[in-house]
Amino acid sequence: MPFILAQSCFLCGDMSSLAICAPCLADLPYHHNACLACGNLEEEGVCYHCQQELPPYTHTQALFSYVYPINKMIHAAKFYHNLVILNLLGQLMAQHLRYDEQPEVLIPVPLHPQRLRQRGYNQSTELAKCISKHTGIPFDYKVCHRIKNTVSQRSLSAPQRHSNLQGAFILKPLKEKWQHVVLIDDVMTTGATVKEMAIVFKEAGVRRVDVWCCAHR
Ligand SMILES: [Zn+2]
Ligand SMILES: [Zn+2]
Repeated sequence: MPFILAQSCFLCGDMSSLAICAPCLADLPYHHNACLACGNLEEEGVCYHCQQELPPYTHTQALFSYVYPINKMIHAAKFYHNLVILNLLGQLMAQHLRYDEQPEVLIPVPLHPQRLRQRGYNQSTELAKCISKHTGIPFDYKVCHRIKNTVSQRSLSAPQRHSNLQGAFILKPLKEKWQHVVLIDDVMTTGATVKEMAIVFKEAGVRRVDVWCCAHR
C-alpha cells in the first residue's frame, strides 16, 4: 500500500494528502470570462479598452481572481516563504493554463535586487521554475533586470504607474533569438509592470509576448 503523508489542509484544516484538500481546491476562485488581451473581466473576446489600444502583450492568461482564499495563499507564499503553497500554485498554473502556441521561454517578473535581498526569494521566479518543471518550457530569470526600485504601485493612478515604471527594466543581450516569450507574474493589477517589460522585450526583437499570472485583481 502506498504511504501517503497526511497533512492538514492550509485552508480548512482537514486532513489531506496535498497542501489544499480536494474540496477546497475545487472551490478556488478560477478566473473565467476574461479579455483575451489584458485579462480584465469581460464576457467574450477583447475588452473595450484593448479594442481602443492593444497592449504590447498578445494574450493574458490568469488562473484565479485575486479574492479570498487566493489572496491569502499568495500572501503566505510571498511574505511567509510558504513554498508548499507556492509550488502548488505553480503546478495548478501549469495544469490549467492553456496556450495555443508554446513559448520558447518563461521570464519571471524580476524584483529589484534590494527587495530580493530583503525577501530572500522572488515568488515569480519560483512560479516560473515550477511551471517549467511541469511543462518542459525553459525559464530564464537572469536576462531581465529591474534597475529601478519603484514605490508600490497600489496607491498610484494609471499615468503615475506608467511613469513610476518607465526605464525600470533592462535586458542583457539575448543569446538566443526568441520569437515568443511568456512573462510570469504572481498578481496582475493594471498590467503596468508587464506592459513595461513587454515593451523592452519587443524592442529587443521578440515578436510575441504573453502574460501568465497566478491571479488577476
Ligand atoms: Zn480544505
Ligand atoms: Zn482587455
